[in-house]
Amino acid sequence: MADVLKFSIEATAGAARVGTLTTPHGEVTTPAFMPVATQASVKALTGDEVGALGAEMLLANTYHLLLRPGPDVMRQLGGLHRFMRWPGPMLTDSGGYQIYSLGHRVDITDESVTFRSHLDGSRHVLSPERAVAVQEALGADIIMALDHLTPQPAAYAEDEAALTRTLAWAARCRDAKRRGDQALFGIVQGGLHLDLRERSLKALEDIGFPGYGIGGLSVGESKADMYGMLARLHDLLPQQKPRYLMGVGSPEDLLEAIDNGVDLFDCVLPTRLARHGALFTPTGRVNIRKAAYRTQESPVDPTCDCPTCAHYSAAYLHHLCRSGELLYHRLATLHNLRFIFRLLDDARTAIREQRFATFKEEFLAQYTPASEEVRVEQRRKWQARREVRKN
Ligand SMILES: [Zn+2]
Repeated sequence: MADVLKFSIEATAGAARVGTLTTPHGEVTTPAFMPVATQASVKALTGDEVGALGAEMLLANTYHLLLRPGPDVMRQLGGLHRFMRWPGPMLTDSGGYQIYSLGHRVDITDESVTFRSHLDGSRHVLSPERAVAVQEALGADIIMALDHLTPQPAAYAEDEAALTRTLAWAARCRDAKRRGDQALFGIVQGGLHLDLRERSLKALEDIGFPGYGIGGLSVGESKADMYGMLARLHDLLPQQKPRYLMGVGSPEDLLEAIDNGVDLFDCVLPTRLARHGALFTPTGRVNIRKAAYRTQESPVDPTCDCPTCAHYSAAYLHHLCRSGELLYHRLATLHNLRFIFRLLDDARTAIREQRFATFKEEFLAQYTPASEEVRVEQRRKWQARREVRKN
């Protein structure tokens, strides 16, 4: 079978690289950030709007679309691209991550995962074969193998057992795949244990995948641990294949991961933060609800070229946010996504011009990341809110 994906690297600076990923629905210049269209929608925006901001590829969540509208409806309507009118490249996850984080009463065996829908409590079974079948109904260009995740940091034995299962499932996903116009990625697991990561990658290479997801990072471990593991993985992963770091999207994490040779990212962070009042600026994220913005006539980020900053004052955003206006969600999402696309655009230019290290250093010297405590606290709040929604 001809290769569904082509990946060519056109420039490198250290481990960082700029490449072109060619999919059945078009090209993506990497490193690239995929906004998350959880329910076949990047919340508050149309596909045209996301594309105009600079998105070349979107991610949609199999778990949510499996529950609603369901794979049969999706197949009948011609798949995701057509359903949501997004003509460009897409990737779907396997559904695993949401099952473990949202599902009630998850029961995992070597055969499959049984879970209860967070919507109505109905019982569902996801096996490697079914994860592939559902993703074939959705029709994304890249689909992901079903994996077994452990909350991090986990004990060695726990990570090892999950890894063994993930590898068996990866082979079953490969065997279950029927469509010739989708590329299946394997997912490197193994937590923070280098020997398990090595074992994972070697076994996946033996099965043979056109690209690799890096799973099990940014799931509760410290940033130092995450960056350390990315550096080790760069040496282990095959150089000529695309690497996709799952669930990472803060500016500082993106730059560190690019510096360690990562090509693809997805994360709900920019859009979710936007809706909660946190907007990116070159000096760090700001809380637009703060009184300081009540009368600020200039845009929230005067250096930004997004439609929001071009037309509206920080004072207007402050007012809309505090009033709970729906327009706020749109304007804030436009801004945060554009910030991330510009960051990646600048990173790619810096790699091409052989000055990525300086670019990263200069950006991080100005940009203050949310502190580790703020990050942990935020995570706790979202999880608590999710608990409320589930019950
Ligand atoms: Zn803006």
